[in-house]
Amino acid sequence: MSKVVIIGAGASGLVAAIFAAKAKNEVTILERNSSVGKKILITGNGKCNYFNIDQDIKHYNCQNKEILNQIITTDNLNEVLNMFDEIGIVPKIKNGYYYPNSNQAVSVKEALLLECQLLGVNIITDYYAKNIKKQNNQFIINNEIKADKIIIATGSKAAPKTGSDGNGYNLVNSLGHSIIKPLPALVQLISDEKDLKQWDKIRCEVKVSLIENDKLIKKEHGEIQLTDYGVSGICIFNLSGKVARGIDNNKKEEIVINFLPEIDDFIKFISQRNNKVKGRNISQLFDGLLNYKLADFLIKKAKINKNKYWDELTKEEKETLNQKVCAFKLNIKGTNSFDKAQVCSGGVPLTEINPTTMESAKENNIYIIGEILDVNGDCGGYNLTFAFLTGYLAGKGTK
Ligand SMILES: Cc1cc2nc3c(=O)[nH]c(=O)nc-3n(C[C@H](O)[C@H](O)[C@H](O)COP(=O)(O)OP(=O)(O)OC[C@H]3O[C@@H](n4cnc5c(N)ncnc54)[C@H](O)[C@@H]3O)c2cc1C
Repeated sequence: MSKVVIIGAGASGLVAAIFAAKAKNEVTILERNSSVGKKILITGNGKCNYFNIDQDIKHYNCQNKEILNQIITTDNLNEVLNMFDEIGIVPKIKNGYYYPNSNQAVSVKEALLLECQLLGVNIITDYYAKNIKKQNNQFIINNEIKADKIIIATGSKAAPKTGSDGNGYNLVNSLGHSIIKPLPALVQLISDEKDLKQWDKIRCEVKVSLIENDKLIKKEHGEIQLTDYGVSGICIFNLSGKVARGIDNNKKEEIVINFLPEIDDFIKFISQRNNKVKGRNISQLFDGLLNYKLADFLIKKAKINKNKYWDELTKEEKETLNQKVCAFKLNIKGTNSFDKAQVCSGGVPLTEINPTTMESAKENNIYIIGEILDVNGDCGGYNLTFAFLTGYLAGKGTK
């Protein structure tokens, strides 16, 4: 039996505790907050989207995908789902997205906590692990807590009010690990385009492409939220990690939005519409087709008088309107900060980890799990899945 200490009682730390206890270790979790799983409570808008049936590796971002492939295996994913079944979480699956049937994130947190308690895990809250030192064959935390094995589960820098403020990077650094610069991901994008107040608070279904240094990088389809500073929404979040990294590397980042993704040929479509619904000016032609405020904004951006009629427009004006509606180019100058980000890109590279046990390649008996690692997923349950998977592997790995 080993003395296993887990630093951080978030999603990854709680699952690691369960499996380390099942591996017959004496397990202690240290959590700086006064209660465990604070971040779990705010996941999925309080409903906790904890898994996704579509586990294609394309939903994860990481510099070492071959290593990641050894973590996200069908067997490991099944172990995580079995654990949820065993701790009593009944899934509600919507389009492949898993939520607890209660629709409450708190039930996931409570189920994990209860399982830890039933397995005899010692949970110490209001305890901030500042440093780890080696002493003979053991480790010692803050010069007072001894451990044979330590699992570092301190999270990243995202949403620091939940306890993850990036201090974990110093801990792993002190043990010889390198850190790929953490940057915000799953976060809103900020633009310097003028007049964005006019499209503030509009939501619509779009296709959006990310263009980096004039090259297409990634495409998304889904709901976008237009804001007075830029853009938000799930499809934007899924692009944001790459945008933050690109801007950090001085690359030019733009997104191109198609506000009428279901229409193949805008000019032909509007011409036919103009023949059908007679007597409408440009502004009125958009009635019932696009959000009124958005149509007004795009017509203005095309520098067209909205009272003109379609047949009065020149070929060039029609093409400009087409560009504004179906390929609106937005220059991106940054992302919102870590405060607003759901996760971070960057962290400890997977090359410094044994992917079957999550043990450090730099220091025996140290394990590193969850978001502190250089892996971040799309919206849709991927980040919690990764936290749970690595928690499972490390917990089991302490045997
Ligand atoms: C608003 C929001 C919504 C989200 N929604 C989803 C979703 O629906 N689905 C999904 O898959 N992902 C979601 N995520 C992402 C997901 O929550 C995280 O990726 C995941 O919780 C990371 O788990 P973790 O255990 O690595 O870190 P965390 O959950 O951040 O836990 C780290 C813990 O370590 C503690 N800690 C840190 N340093 C120390 C220290 N030195 N000593 C002691 N304790 C310490 C912290 O207090 C914290 O409790 C969301 C994130 C946010 C912010």
